[in-house]
Amino acid sequence: MTDGTIHPGLDAAATAVSPQVIAWRQHLHQYPELSNREVNTARLIADHLNSLGLDEVRTGIAGHGVVGVLRGGKPGDRVIALRADIDALPVPDQCGVPFASTVVDENYPGGPFPVSHACGHDCHTAMLMGAATVLAGVREQLPGTVLFVFQPAEEGPPVDEKGGARAMLDAGALDDPAPTMAFGFHVTPYPKGYIGYRVGNQFGASCLVKLTITGQQVHGSTPWMGIDPMPAAGAVMTGIGQLYRQISAFDPVTVTIGHVEDVGRFNIIGQTVTLWGTIRCAVENDMTEVQKRLDTLATHTAQAYNCSATVEFLQDVPAVHNSKAWLDAGLPTFQRVVGVDKVVPSIPTLGYDDVSEFVNKFGGLYVTLGVQDAELDPNGMPFPVPGGRGLFVNHNPHFYADDDTLVTGVRLHAYVAYDHLNGTLVPH
Ligand SMILES: [Zn+2]
Ligand SMILES: [Zn+2]
Repeated sequence: MTDGTIHPGLDAAATAVSPQVIAWRQHLHQYPELSNREVNTARLIADHLNSLGLDEVRTGIAGHGVVGVLRGGKPGDRVIALRADIDALPVPDQCGVPFASTVVDENYPGGPFPVSHACGHDCHTAMLMGAATVLAGVREQLPGTVLFVFQPAEEGPPVDEKGGARAMLDAGALDDPAPTMAFGFHVTPYPKGYIGYRVGNQFGASCLVKLTITGQQVHGSTPWMGIDPMPAAGAVMTGIGQLYRQISAFDPVTVTIGHVEDVGRFNIIGQTVTLWGTIRCAVENDMTEVQKRLDTLATHTAQAYNCSATVEFLQDVPAVHNSKAWLDAGLPTFQRVVGVDKVVPSIPTLGYDDVSEFVNKFGGLYVTLGVQDAELDPNGMPFPVPGGRGLFVNHNPHFYADDDTLVTGVRLHAYVAYDHLNGTLVPH
């Protein structure tokens, strides 16, 4: 078989494996595991990779990370890293499928939490497992090496644990062989089978905010005998609304407090209030400025209420960036996977994905794959198809993904891997 004729074989193998991919996806969906707790997910992955007879299957990387190494039978120096994230979210599952999750993690820090794959990482994992089957089946024709990178804790580990893409790099997971390209994609509420791309920042820079306001604990009937941190916390949250006006209105920024942790009771003024949140910046250089202004707001507002405040910025993740050179190289491949009409520019978002750690280090690409009952309006914005399941964004309890689209993701991985190894998909 020559280079030009391998793609139909990849398609046939992807179709053949797709019932298994759907079964894996449904199983993973029903039994989701939170970040840094992906024990059974990792075992399922490793068992499958071992069954394929890969050259190496490395497990236990930065927690529950798994890397499979497939060395092709033809000479070639290129190394493609295909990455899937494997963790779930503390979100109830209301997507309405028979395999919906009823899992509750009783022991997770801050929990108990209902657990679900509300970000679709079950799809990513199953699609990459399917791609491993497809590529292992043509290993003799691969001019180079494929790394199947199953990454834990993409959604962020518990705050006092390490984890995620950077922890995998720190553990040397991709040192040998080092990739010449990293590739990842994310399922999104776009029309089924559409690939979305963007030159520049697809996702924003992110950090976790831990903002602690300290007062002095006292009986709820005698606030004057202590210091109440609650009004200060409220004032800080209100003040955050003014931070936007201190950053250029042309640079999207969000500051969200998603969780307020108080240690009081209806009749006790607690010692502290901790605000947990996240900052997202479309332009990475804005991050330092927003952090500085939030710190000023918190410390001075707290002082005005006779409290003190400390602000910590944790789990910083760089923006997901596609260079024009890499995207120019990748677009023909994407178009061969789904057709020219279904490869569309996508809008930037302030989500994050720490695949940026891999793409920044090794070069590569990141795109999106639509999985919902949607169509695009003339401006390229998705809207729900009448009579469909609706449009639900990632992290929403109703987020869903269409099983029939999974085979497209298998093909996407396989095409990108082969095209990079054979020198078709390389930047010039
Ligand atoms: Zn997510
Ligand atoms: Zn995600």
